[in-house]
Amino acid sequence: MCPRKKSRKAVGYMSFELFRDVVDQLSCRNIAQLSLHLAGEPLLHPRITEMVAYAKGHGLRRVRFATNATLLNENLARDLIEAGLDSLTVSMDASCAKRYCPGLSGNELISNLDQKIVGLIALRNQRGLEYPEVHMRIINMESTQDLIGDFVQRWEGVADRVTVKPLLSWAGHIKVPGKEPTRRLICISHLTQGVVLWDGDVSFCCLYIDSEGDGAAVIGNAARTSLEDIFLSERRRVLIEAQLRGNYDVAPYCRECPDWNEYLDWGRAEKRPVAGVEA
Ligand code: SF4
Repeated sequence: MCPRKKSRKAVGYMSFELFRDVVDQLSCRNIAQLSLHLAGEPLLHPRITEMVAYAKGHGLRRVRFATNATLLNENLARDLIEAGLDSLTVSMDASCAKRYCPGLSGNELISNLDQKIVGLIALRNQRGLEYPEVHMRIINMESTQDLIGDFVQRWEGVADRVTVKPLLSWAGHIKVPGKEPTRRLICISHLTQGVVLWDGDVSFCCLYIDSEGDGAAVIGNAARTSLEDIFLSERRRVLIEAQLRGNYDVAPYCRECPDWNEYLDWGRAEKRPVAGVEA
């Protein structure tokens, strides 16, 4: 689902040392949540469970990630539960469509994923635990229209949350019918989130994919500079001020972005405890 083909960035795994350094810097802050994903599949990382355990052991109160769950298995499910993962978003997106994986039948794929997720929930429940919360999510787009009803029906009452999420344009990199850039006061992403990519590059936006012509969406590198210095930098101040003034010459990545208002109800959506549809 991430527009990876548009990205110029090399792929890689964040080193454990960099991850530890980032967590150590965050552990004394009142961070609402740490999400271990962006334009990549977290379960591919060979040390993902250690990372969850480290973050939970160092005061991060909510650690979560989104996954397509294809690599989930019983051992991994047990390790993630024991590591203290707070929330797992399973992004089925098109994975329940026969068109998603031509080499495997749609039914086989769905059945495999279904068993893995139900297995994780059962394992968690057997231990009398409420976490990780399992959040099933499907994207509302043309190719999933015929699947949404069945998806919601399948998972309501089984998963802890079920949501139908609007399709993001990834800051204008994907054409989404009916979505155009609109005038905004400020995108709260600039104030509420920070992103550390696998190589340490820090961005202000979780939709950053480093495509051609993206401009200045990287504001520093966590392998060389502390997060405090990056987020209190003159560069970030100028970016926020430019957003307030609607001056996208300074933040060209945001110029064509119609997604900014998807984040306005982020806090509410993340806390919603029951199944529902994200408008
Ligand atoms: S305006 Fe769009 S690209 Fe810019 S920070 Fe917000 S969500 Fe990201």
